[in-house]
This record gives sequence, C-alpha cells and structure tokens, in this order.
Amino acid sequence: MIEKTQIFVGGTWIDSTATETLTVVNPATEEPIATIPRGTAEDVDKAARAAAAAAAGWAESSLDERVRIISAAARLLEARIPEITDTIVSEVGHPRKWAELAHAKGAVADLEVVSESIPAITWSEKIDGVIDLVREPAGVVGAITPWNGPLASIATKAGAAIAAGCPVVLKGSEFTPLTAYVFAEAFAEAGLPPGVLNMVTGTGPEVGEAIVTHPEVDMISLTGSLRAGRRIMELAAPRVKRLILELGGKSANVVLDDADLELAVNDGIADAFRNSGQACGCLTRMLVPEKAVRRAEEIAAAKAATYAVGDPCDDRTTIGPMANAGQFARVRNYIGWGVEDGMRVVSGGLAKPDGVDRGYFVCPTIFTGDNSMRTAREEVFGPVVTIIPYRDEDDAVAIANDSDYGLAGGVWSGDADRARRVARRIRTGRVRINGEPMNRRAPHGGFKLSGIGREWGRLGVEQFTEYKSVIG
Ligand code: NAD
Repeated sequence: MIEKTQIFVGGTWIDSTATETLTVVNPATEEPIATIPRGTAEDVDKAARAAAAAAAGWAESSLDERVRIISAAARLLEARIPEITDTIVSEVGHPRKWAELAHAKGAVADLEVVSESIPAITWSEKIDGVIDLVREPAGVVGAITPWNGPLASIATKAGAAIAAGCPVVLKGSEFTPLTAYVFAEAFAEAGLPPGVLNMVTGTGPEVGEAIVTHPEVDMISLTGSLRAGRRIMELAAPRVKRLILELGGKSANVVLDDADLELAVNDGIADAFRNSGQACGCLTRMLVPEKAVRRAEEIAAAKAATYAVGDPCDDRTTIGPMANAGQFARVRNYIGWGVEDGMRVVSGGLAKPDGVDRGYFVCPTIFTGDNSMRTAREEVFGPVVTIIPYRDEDDAVAIANDSDYGLAGGVWSGDADRARRVARRIRTGRVRINGEPMNRRAPHGGFKLSGIGREWGRLGVEQFTEYKSVIG
C-alpha cells in the first residue's frame, strides 16, 4: 500500500494540511492500492502563491531553457516507463500493453511535441512597421486533469503551459493521482525553477474549485466532464478568467456507400473500444447506409468477439475494467437504457464478461438504434457503440451533426476527395479520413458542448499565451 502525504509546492515536497485521506482503488481487483491527502484550500493557497512568485522569472526564461528542461523531463519519464506503466495499470485498469504504448510512452511523446513546438511559435511579429505583436505567457495556470489518460493529460496540459512561460498549479484526478507525483519529480529533477510547477491532490469540489477561484490563478485548463466544465465556467466568471475546457464527445464515424465496409467497420470498432472505450474522442456512433446495416452488424459482431476482457496485467487482455465504481455503474446504466429503449443488441449487453468474478468489468457492447435514443445521444464513456442507419450523404451529415457535442469524427469513402468534402461539413474539432491514425501535432478539442480551446501540438502551447500590441 502506497501512502502519500505530501504535495509539491515552490520546488519542495511539503506535508499537505489535509486531515483526511482519499483511497485509490485498483478497478480490476476493487482493492485499495494507495492513499493520498484529501487536500485543502490552504494547500492550494500555498501552491498558487508559489506559482505567482515564480511567474515573472519564468516568463523571462529563454526558449532554449524551456526546451532543455522539458526535453530533460521527457527523458527522465522515459527512464521510468516500466514503473509508470505499472502505476497506470493498477490505478486505471488499462491493459498493460496499451498502458505502456498510449500512456507511458505516449506521455513522453506528448512532452516531445510540446518541446519541439516552442521554437515553431511566432513569439513576435511586426505589423505596419510600427506594431510589435508579441505573445506573452497568460500567467498562473490551474491545470485540472481526468483519470482516463492520467499522465498524458498532464503532459499535454501542464507541459504546454510551462512551455508557454506559465507557472502551473496542477491537480490530477483523485482516482488516479499517482502519476502526477512522477511528473512533478521528473520536472524537479530536470531543473525546473522552484514554483513553476506545483502539485496538489484532492477532490474537484474542494481542491479543484479552490484552484479555479484563487485570485493568483489567471487561467484554468480542465480536461473532464461537462458537469465540471460548467461549474468551472460559473466560478471563473466573476474574474473573467481564461478557460480551456476539454470536455466530452459523442463522435460519429460516417461510413459512406463507396467505402470498404469491412475495413471501415473493423477500424471503427477498434477506435470505439480503445482505452476500454474510455476516451473522449472515441467514435461511438457508426453511421452506415441503410442497405449495409446487416452486413455492418455481422462485421462488427465478429470484431467484438476478438476482444478479451479481463485482468489488465495479462498480455492477452484488450479491454480492462471500467476505471472506478461510478464509471462501472454509469456504463451499465447506458447499456440497460439501450436495451430498454429497444435498440438491437448486436454484441455484448448487461451480462458479466466470462471469467471475471470481481472488478468493474463490462461486456463491450454494440447496438443498432437511431440517433434519438439516449445511449446514442449521451456520452457513455465506455466500450459501447451504436450503429445508426442513414438514407443518403446529406442524411449522414445531418445525423453526425445532430449532437450536442462536437469533438471528433471519421469519414470513410473510396474517394478521398469526397471524404474530405464530407469531413468539412461535420462540426467537430477533428475528423480522420479512412482510418488515418491520430496525430499529436493535430490540435485536439471541440465545438459545442465538447468545450473551448485546443490542446496538442503548437496550438496547444499557444493557447497559454496572451497577445500584446506594442505600438511605436
Ligand atoms: P470529471 O469532470 O469528474 O473530473 C475531471 C477533473 O476535474 C478531476 O481532476 C476532478 O477532480 C476535477 N473536478 C471535478 N469537479 C470539479 C469542480 N467542480 N471544480 C474543479 N474541478 C473539478 O471527469 P472525469 O470523470 O475524470 O473524466 C471523464 C470526462 O472527461 C469525460 O466526460 C470525458 O469525455 C472527458 N475527457 C475529455 C477529454 C478531451 O480532451 N476533450 C479527454 C479526456 C476526458
């Protein structure tokens, strides 16, 4: 059992003022693995003051120094990949191979992209011969991250803020707090000046809200739920704080009538089931031509049968447990509502997966239904896909856009130009064509309820800067 009692403030590990602890549970075994301080507003106050004290110095740091420190931190994290992988397997339940590739190595790659972005940014430009348009750091950033990609979220958010010249008060998810400690250790060892990164622990309503409302915190970047995003907007309003909100999604994968159906459906299911279905950009609505629905169902069911649900430490496992008890209940509710609403069960359902007797496991589930049904409209955040029939291309675009969210999307066609034309009609922050893989240099973020702002790549760093015009 790991017992953490400290937080990272002003370059030093200090005891939290917490009088209570929070317990971290392994979702595959339902057993406690760690305790962390249930942090307080006093902890946040110390962290925010330390960040504010470091702001002017870090804003003046050279771009070379930022590149050097972030690259050094990336190398230090790289050296700890086996340990980070184990931590992510035990606190989130991601299957080991995936935890290593997407989360441990992924976080290192995220930091590398952050660091390569620094010299690629136009930090100042001349306009009209008399205007210097310069980018300045936005100030102290409150970085609040979720459990589904615990370290990668921190790397893209806190890493990008540091790259922009902003000090950070970081709070990882209370469900998966352990990799935030590793991140702080790496940056301390990499030589980041004291106060530029501060890390506190605790719940959203207590520590998260104390960060958002602290007068020394200028800007908030949240990756999380719509509920938290709305609350943070309210709390940030009195001081008109800048916000980046990376929220949920209900993304459509549009399989056009000239697509290779076999390839499109197989790839679409793989995308929807990645991260055990617990990723914001998963393509959870699969739009197929009416006449191809039966065939798409057969292909999808065969693909689902290739997934192995179970012990995330077993290398054969491809879908782990849902990350916590609340998530488990939520995903099961949506599967139940899908059945109640009369969706056709193509694969999965509410039964327990074979061979598991404990842990928060669900069967990966594929429904066929229409876009008005609750499970097709709301974010499930689990391995649940709805196949939705459409009449023609216009109908497909209308269904794809008939969503409160606008995060990601896919288009499949035998004609890449046609696919690009359809992609431009879809109101989301990203559309991938014919299964083109994700790319860390492609900005990530959404329209509508999916949030405000973009992360990843050069734009992800630029978001933490303010423009200033110096005239004359
Ligand atoms: P969550 O909103 O419950 O928690 C996210 C973070 O916000 C946690 O650190 C939590 O403590 C904090 N928080 C919660 N309430 C808060 C409040 N009132 N004030 C301040 N902070 C608060 O979300 P989650 O369950 O950890 O993550 C799942 C959600 O995150 C899903 O909706 C998913 O779509 C979304 N997500 C989005 C992206 C993206 O890039 N768009 C990526 C991953 C996850």
